[in-house]
Amino acid sequence: MPLFRYLKRKWLLKKPLPDEWEDIIHKKVPVIHRLPGHLQERLKQRAVILIDEKHFEGCGGLELTGEMILVIACYASVLILEEPADYYGGLQSILVYPEDYLAPFHEEYEGGIVSEGYESRSGEYWGAGNIVLSWKDIQRDLYSVSTGNNLIYHEFSHLLDDRYGLTAGISAEGTALRDDEWTQIVAKAYRRHLRDTATGRYSVVSAYGATSPAEFFSVATEVFIEKPSGLKRYMPGLYSMLSAFYRIDPVSWR
Ligand SMILES: [Zn+2]
Repeated sequence: MPLFRYLKRKWLLKKPLPDEWEDIIHKKVPVIHRLPGHLQERLKQRAVILIDEKHFEGCGGLELTGEMILVIACYASVLILEEPADYYGGLQSILVYPEDYLAPFHEEYEGGIVSEGYESRSGEYWGAGNIVLSWKDIQRDLYSVSTGNNLIYHEFSHLLDDRYGLTAGISAEGTALRDDEWTQIVAKAYRRHLRDTATGRYSVVSAYGATSPAEFFSVATEVFIEKPSGLKRYMPGLYSMLSAFYRIDPVSWR
């Protein structure tokens, strides 16, 4: 890490948080109340650094407020409480749209068939260092905590997955392509999820997780933090692998 960055982080972390920020976090980031005391402090510290080092931008006419930036940074910090991953190193910008935005898509199928057009999206992770989020969807998740959905956890977990090549070790059909324990167990949980969704059986992870191993990892991350006991009961192996990766144990939180 460059020396100036190290010193700046140290300096930033010494400054007390403005009362106004404390107030917003208290009201808009309820997950903080579940954390043990030392992690509550750490969450705020991580958020302060993310706000300083990442570029947040309102798009599609959205006027991005300090409150929005703080809320996004706090939730993004939950995933890096114990694993700083150098504060999502490589990530440069967080682009926020007022609601679902239209993204161009281009898909090629067998036989040279090409499908092109625009599709509505609520969030996405662009490998090139950008995360795109819809503020409307973020808000929807914040006001209905029991759904187990959280767009911010979802998109930021894609970034971590990509960085560490986690689900790159699992095929679309759920075959583990590596023989380490993590990959084996997550692949097994993914196969079970594929079976359950195909047969219409209940799964604690949303059906969207059947799209690909990467989507499975991201929706499972949402549930891991929002409904940890459900995930632990239903897929204990997956729960412990997520716990090992993020180095947190949300079941033990309040
Ligand atoms: Zn996704």
